[in-house]
Amino acid sequence: MSSSHGSQVQNRGVRALSLVLLFTLIYLTADFALNKFAFSDGWTVLWPLNGVTIALLLMWPRLDWPAILVGVTLGTGIGECLDHNPVTLELWLRTFSLIEVLICAWLLPPFTSLDDWLRRTYLFPRFFAALLLGPGISGVMAAILFHHVHHEPWLMAFNDWATADALGIAAIMPLALCARSTEMRTLFKGHALPRTIGILVTAFTGIVLIFTISRYPLLFLLYPILLYVDSMLAFAGSAIAMPVVCLLAVYFTIHGHGPFAFWPQGLLVSRNVALQIYLGFHMVALFPASVLFMERRRMSEDLRDANAQLTMLASVDGLTGIANRRSLDERFSMEWKRAIRVRTSLALLMIDLDHFKQYNDMYGHHAGDQCLRTIAGVLSRHLRRPQDFVARFGGEEFAILLPHTDLDGARHLAETIRIAVLEAAVDHDGSSWGCVTVSVGCAAILPAHGDDRFRLLQTADAALYLAKKAGRNCIEISEPVDEPAQ
Ligand code: GH3
Ligand code: MG
Ligand code: MG
Repeated sequence: MSSSHGSQVQNRGVRALSLVLLFTLIYLTADFALNKFAFSDGWTVLWPLNGVTIALLLMWPRLDWPAILVGVTLGTGIGECLDHNPVTLELWLRTFSLIEVLICAWLLPPFTSLDDWLRRTYLFPRFFAALLLGPGISGVMAAILFHHVHHEPWLMAFNDWATADALGIAAIMPLALCARSTEMRTLFKGHALPRTIGILVTAFTGIVLIFTISRYPLLFLLYPILLYVDSMLAFAGSAIAMPVVCLLAVYFTIHGHGPFAFWPQGLLVSRNVALQIYLGFHMVALFPASVLFMERRRMSEDLRDANAQLTMLASVDGLTGIANRRSLDERFSMEWKRAIRVRTSLALLMIDLDHFKQYNDMYGHHAGDQCLRTIAGVLSRHLRRPQDFVARFGGEEFAILLPHTDLDGARHLAETIRIAVLEAAVDHDGSSWGCVTVSVGCAAILPAHGDDRFRLLQTADAALYLAKKAGRNCIEISEPVDEPAQ
């Protein structure tokens, strides 16, 4: 007992240590790369790593959070110190960052699958609260520090931290959550791939235009473009589009292109903050629209399923599970028209169980129902062609519709079925054969324009009547009588 407990503790220790090492390495590399290639170039508009950290926390069990957070803090901290940040300042900043990701991770629901996550109640308010409170609270702490240490103005000190973090979370967290989802994989699988690429390339071309054309402000185009991506590729598509929008916006702006490039100096809001507010608005406003689109898609799928279910229920006989009278009528009408068009014979078998009233009286209705199911099974199993169609006509009567079949063919199948029912050997002491038998009436017709299909039904019925008169457990045929000339 105690040795297994000991080995469990040891396993947990090894797992925690591996997580610390793994995340230290990943975040050190990421922080170093961001500082070297991005931020040196003026990319202070958004800080992406916290969005990734929050997504990781939502995906991993809480038991692993301490190890992940230690790794993330160590990796980023070392990266920032290598970038010449003083260690004491860095200790404070890492603490603020930890507070921020913990607030967001606690406010948001845990992630198991994208579909489940997007269905969680109050997801948008929780997302919005996380974006405001996580970066907001840590931003106030950072502002106090920057104001006292670097004598930065309050608003600037707050903005430096909070806005870039909030934007990073809004733009990167959805992508990090979606990255391994089935929804994301289906976007890039098989024949979905060209469609996905086509939609994204169209959208990105539009975004490039927005941020390269300086003389005419096209900023109003961004929201429709994002809505277009979301309506076509759903949340996973938007999760790709959002960070790309940020990348393109920042890239073109710092290289002197687009509507934000020539932002006047001396305004209360700097160029970067204006760009951040603009992008942030779009990220936040897209989220509820995306959830609405998803609801609509889900509702139309549910409706389609319910309709299919209803159609199925309306066309199937509840007792035997084969087609009911309604679907026989539909199929009969369809095959009748086809037989006229292609000038082929259409045959119909009317099958009635013999002495079935007596069967019910002797064995009870429950056994009677079971017998009907057995006979329905025998009939279904003996249909040879895909177009042949069996239905429960009503009570203990069945009908089989045989397209492209003449009277000879119909008689042949009728005999096969009569014997198959006999061989099924359902005990019936009230019958002289000792088992359940059927009588079958066969009819076939080469229908012509203006003929009434009920004539075929009447003829098969007349044949069935003859079979009953002939002593039951037999088949009879009947020829349609020509209608009297008008
Ligand atoms: P025949 O050989 O002349 O056809 O005699 P029959 O007794 O089969 O015919 P009849 O029309 O007199 O009786 C049909 C019986 O079928 C009456 C009814 O009790 C039974 N039946 C009809 N529908 C059902 C059903 O859904 N379940 C059960 N258990 N019995 C049914
Ligand atoms: Mg009957
Ligand atoms: Mg009967």
